[in-house]
Amino acid sequence: MATKIPAAQARLFKNVFVCKSCSTKMRADPKKILERKVKCRKCGKREFRAIRKK
Ligand SMILES: [Zn+2]
Repeated sequence: MATKIPAAQARLFKNVFVCKSCSTKMRADPKKILERKVKCRKCGKREFRAIRKK
């Protein structure tokens, strides 16, 4: 029920990315993701995808 609130969803999913290699969730500026300035804290890779799968 609580997750249907758009504001809550935006807060939960906005700017959150998942490491393509180890699936660690990272909150970061999308601009920084595109510029590959964000490094995964776990595996050190710089490839991320948006948190929603489909
Ligand atoms: Zn990783």
